[in-house]
Amino acid sequence: MESSQQRIKIAVQKTGRLTEHSQDMLERCGLKLTRSKDRLFCYGENMPIDLLLVRDDDIPGLVSEDVCDLGIVGLNVVEEKRLELEAAGQNAMFKQVFALDFGHCRLALAGPADAEYGGISSLENKRIATSYVHLLNNFLNSNSIRAETVYFSGAVEIAPKLGKADYICDLVSTGSTLEANGMQQHDVLLESEAVVIQTRAPLSDEKQALVSRLLQRLDGVLQVRESKYIMLHAPRSALPRIRDLLPGSEAPTVVPLEGTPEKVAIHAVCRENVFWETLENLKAAGASSLLVLPVEKMLA
Ligand code: ATP
Ligand code: ZN
Repeated sequence: MESSQQRIKIAVQKTGRLTEHSQDMLERCGLKLTRSKDRLFCYGENMPIDLLLVRDDDIPGLVSEDVCDLGIVGLNVVEEKRLELEAAGQNAMFKQVFALDFGHCRLALAGPADAEYGGISSLENKRIATSYVHLLNNFLNSNSIRAETVYFSGAVEIAPKLGKADYICDLVSTGSTLEANGMQQHDVLLESEAVVIQTRAPLSDEKQALVSRLLQRLDGVLQVRESKYIMLHAPRSALPRIRDLLPGSEAPTVVPLEGTPEKVAIHAVCRENVFWETLENLKAAGASSLLVLPVEKMLA
């Protein structure tokens, strides 16, 4: 029987934009999850890994306080917490260990679409509404701008309409929310995506080995998304040209073909999308019997 001491706890968002992707990534790493009745916990059936389902804002704190070993959360939340702790004279007890390439967004300043913006100096003595007070103050200080930050816990985009602020500093992905509220984006403070953070508290060798294994599998999951396995036949003489045409591939495997010594089969993993144009170019270079297959798993 495993003690809970040896199980890894990962804090993930309970409901929100990161929830589905976070669980999906872990499932692609081979983790089978069962949700508890109270829906606050997911039990890892086949690996000693459990999920704690919480609000995203609580994740850096839970990892910092070593309640959870790992957390999956937006870099925006991580950096805000780091600055908040720094402002209180404390060191963040978590470190970023992996970038997950989903949940992309940016923390940006925005103002009324019909008002002229003459760069950062336009913010001088203005009121800026945000949920990211520390990131905003840090940005203002490093640009020597004096402005008033107005804290909004949500719906920041309505602050100007309510007459509570002149500008906002909020997360933007497509920009449609800004547009719908008659605003335009200005300076970007932070480019964000979902990341894995780990507690700075030392883990047992056994737990650290499991974390490393999980991170390696996550890396494989990211690589596999873009990768294709490509197979073709070609005259031996066309090999150099074909090698140049194979997109993002390492040294291909070249296999002789029975009965036709002048022809070979070429197999390669391409770490980029393979487009029709590429196949047409390969064919023009002498390739035949072209096959492109999806890659299901990859371990570097
Ligand atoms: P919670 O109830 O967990 O506190 P929340 O409302 O704070 O949820 P969500 O709106 O679900 O959070 O966003 C979670 C994360 O998704 C953000 O912190 C950010 O990293 C990322 N994200 C990606 N695109 C956007 C976007 N357009 N707006 C807001 N967040 C985004
Ligand atoms: Zn939140």
